[in-house]
Amino acid sequence: MPTLEDVKQSDLQAAADYVNKVYKAVEQRNPHEAEFLQAVKEIFDSLTPVLAKHPEYIKHNILERIAEPERMITFRVPWVDDQGCVQVNRGFRVQFNSAIGPYKGGLRFHPSVNASITKFLGFEQIFKNSLTGQPIGGGKGGSDFDPKGKSDGEVMRFTQSFMTELCKYIGPDQDVPAGDIGVGAREIGYLFGQYKKIKGGYEAGVLTGKSPGFGGSLIRTEATGYGTVYFMQELLKDNGLTFEGSTVVVSGSGNVAIYAMEKAAELGASVVACSDSNGYIYDENGISLGTLKRLKEVERHRLSEYVKEHPQAQYVEGGSGIWSIPCDIALPCATQNEIDETAANILVRNGVKAVGEGANMPSTLEAIEVFRSNQILFGPAKAANAGGVSVSALEMAQNSARLSWPAEEVDAKLHDIMINIYRDSMTAAEKYGQPGDLVTGANIAGFLKVADAMVSQGVI
Ligand code: GLU
Repeated sequence: MPTLEDVKQSDLQAAADYVNKVYKAVEQRNPHEAEFLQAVKEIFDSLTPVLAKHPEYIKHNILERIAEPERMITFRVPWVDDQGCVQVNRGFRVQFNSAIGPYKGGLRFHPSVNASITKFLGFEQIFKNSLTGQPIGGGKGGSDFDPKGKSDGEVMRFTQSFMTELCKYIGPDQDVPAGDIGVGAREIGYLFGQYKKIKGGYEAGVLTGKSPGFGGSLIRTEATGYGTVYFMQELLKDNGLTFEGSTVVVSGSGNVAIYAMEKAAELGASVVACSDSNGYIYDENGISLGTLKRLKEVERHRLSEYVKEHPQAQYVEGGSGIWSIPCDIALPCATQNEIDETAANILVRNGVKAVGEGANMPSTLEAIEVFRSNQILFGPAKAANAGGVSVSALEMAQNSARLSWPAEEVDAKLHDIMINIYRDSMTAAEKYGQPGDLVTGANIAGFLKVADAMVSQGVI
């Protein structure tokens, strides 16, 4: 392996020109897809030194190929609401890249879901899945259906209609969906039931995130949040810091946020705030996880209910204000672009030491630049939130072997995977001339494995 010093200036220039040219082509081909272009730009910006050292990737035009999905499916999802009216939503599945394994990635049910959101998530998933070291390709899907305020019957009828179409394109060795925002164990259960009914066989490995009672892996619910904290633990350790005694702010209150809070608290941090799309709660004595879990996981209530049981806590309308709470460690676990340049500057001014992304692409490109230029320890989403999909891949392995591993075993494997992702990302950053830059390191480490597989498999 040559070092970066061995790379000729002319090769670096040729690589930079190639990256620019392909990015322009991607822009032209996907106008109006702001989130997708943002995700592509973040990856491409990291790759110039890699392409300079590996001209074979330019020769095989890997960038233009990797930014174009293998397949994008869009479909109508008609369903009948509780009033007997026919409603129509739009369903998506992007099968982005299968170079290293079957397409793998979640389904998101949220009104904001469109082609751009689906593609940014699917694109990120390619590199995230590669980083896990497991044999899974990249995919993603979802619908603009809003589960908020819908009855259980409505969610079931919508979900069954969604699967009636989706089932034509998925399978345990082809494409394996899971959950994401708005899709949890309940939705996965209905999706699995409908798939089984249509296919007439028990293909447990077609979906992950199932309940442990019918093939789900233990620790899958906790995996993304725990994984983010395991990843950040390594980064903090390398810089002489710990969760113990730190003040932590977590955005969101879904399963990623809840289990990031749980693990951070277990490690001795004081978790003082979390949020939902309506507002945030702040409790300087630490959020009660017992109350939070019951409100969100069992009763499906809004976060504002929390202060009725904990009057010492404050509820503030509007979710984005959460970043004005002073903290040592910020864990954005809600949604894309929730930290913009202004929020990043406020965090820095208030003394934040580390930021770990539990959500997908929660920081804008400008926010990342603020963290970078202020030497804030930064765990990028692709690496820091890969724990969820890692345990999904472990669920696939258990389903194939027709057995189930104890919680301790899955948790130990998850912990190892997160440590490896951290080390691989650090090593790649170092090797390509950006020591300590985990954004660059994760992008490069994730890219290399997929690019090599694409080269080996020819022009397909
Ligand atoms: N939606 C999760 C993610 O963003 C998990 C995907 C999966 O388990 O397949 O990685």
